[in-house]
Amino acid sequence: MLKTFPLGGVHPPENKFSESAPTEELPVPAQVVIPISQHIGAPSDPVVKRGDIVKVGQLIAESKGFVSANIHSSVSGKVAKIDGVTDSSGYRQTAITIDAEGDEWLDSVDRSEQLTKEVKLSREDILSRCHEMGIVGLGGATFPSHVKLSVPPGKQCDTLIINGVECEPYLTSDHRLMLEKGEEMVVGISILMKALGVDKAMIGIENNKPDAIEHIKKISAAYKGISVHSLKIKYPQGAEKQLIKALLNREVPSGMLPIEVGAVVHNVGTAFAVYEAVQKNKPLIDRIVTVTGKSLANPGNYRVRIGTPVSALIDAAGGTPEDTGKIVNGGPMMGKALNKSDVPVVKGTSGIILFPASESRRVRVTPCIRCSKCITVCAMGLEPYLLMSLAERDMYDIVEANKVTDCMECGSCSYICPAGRPLLDYIRLGKSTVFSIIRERNSK
Ligand code: SF4
Ligand code: SF4
Repeated sequence: MLKTFPLGGVHPPENKFSESAPTEELPVPAQVVIPISQHIGAPSDPVVKRGDIVKVGQLIAESKGFVSANIHSSVSGKVAKIDGVTDSSGYRQTAITIDAEGDEWLDSVDRSEQLTKEVKLSREDILSRCHEMGIVGLGGATFPSHVKLSVPPGKQCDTLIINGVECEPYLTSDHRLMLEKGEEMVVGISILMKALGVDKAMIGIENNKPDAIEHIKKISAAYKGISVHSLKIKYPQGAEKQLIKALLNREVPSGMLPIEVGAVVHNVGTAFAVYEAVQKNKPLIDRIVTVTGKSLANPGNYRVRIGTPVSALIDAAGGTPEDTGKIVNGGPMMGKALNKSDVPVVKGTSGIILFPASESRRVRVTPCIRCSKCITVCAMGLEPYLLMSLAERDMYDIVEANKVTDCMECGSCSYICPAGRPLLDYIRLGKSTVFSIIRERNSK
């Protein structure tokens, strides 16, 4: 029987229209807008000024503190301005705008396609290289990788889990990466193993990607300690706690991190970025983004420079269809609607989905019929209908007691609710309010 996590979960229509589309390299845009905060942690500090000439791969904003990430120029050209822009989340933040001229890279970056298998760097040097090259988790969380690889004193990691699940419907960039860059990705996994000091890595891939499972199995057979596991299709299996449960049958306690149960989880895209950083000295200046939708002319996967406008990606995929009602940044379950398409692609941009108007409207909200479907599907064992009712009534002490902070915002409850209740909207409100209350309480 295929492995999966036991509690909750849903299986929305997969709609992976772009799974057979090989990754295309998008041309260098005329201008990039690179925000200084594209990661969890402190925003970086710009180290360039208006008028400076930069090369591809050059550091333009330096990480501020341990939990932060360096940011590098994704083009060569002239720094046009450093000012506030609206990012994909709708917030204003500082960004560095660069007018591209040519495509001149730093000499230190090895741009050859040749596979470099032998890992020469020590554990410490791998960590500092990941920090130096601005590597963050590419599965969506954008947590700085050097932090995740630094096992805290007193904790021990015995297993590296590699997330090749890609359980969000529509998204296919990880699938294509495994097929097209599998060799590099597996070397990246061996680098992550060395950094963590573990001799076991488990790659989890859902069984709607049999070609990727077979391909990665063949490659990893030559590597000691790396195994590939076919998983039952179930959302949100890509969430860290669910993937650890599925593969290791270990439960990460409420409010704790995977390291508590001896595991560290990295995404397949991150493993590839680590390969490029460690073996090729290449900073994180591009990524693969799925651009898709039912009415889109050419749904596809695009390797794109960070800072490229989302509109350029949509143009490459055939332009905005007439019936578009909503553009979503990320997957349909966890992604957020964009209010404009001239926002930049950042390190955490995994997909852009264009939904037709007919699928963009909210359904009519009716009273809760106490069917308990939202409870059945919650993989964190929460009671979504209750959390929503409490948040609606500002009863945040009881919201906290009912473990709202465990919610991973997967959206399964809203998806399944036959009454169209905006469960996740209220749970998000409850969660952010409870986190503010906790911060205030701890600061006293
Ligand atoms: S969004 Fe939160 S409450 Fe709703 S199913 Fe997911 S984890 Fe549970
Ligand atoms: S799924 Fe919707 S209708 Fe059913 S109990 Fe939950 S909130 Fe109520």
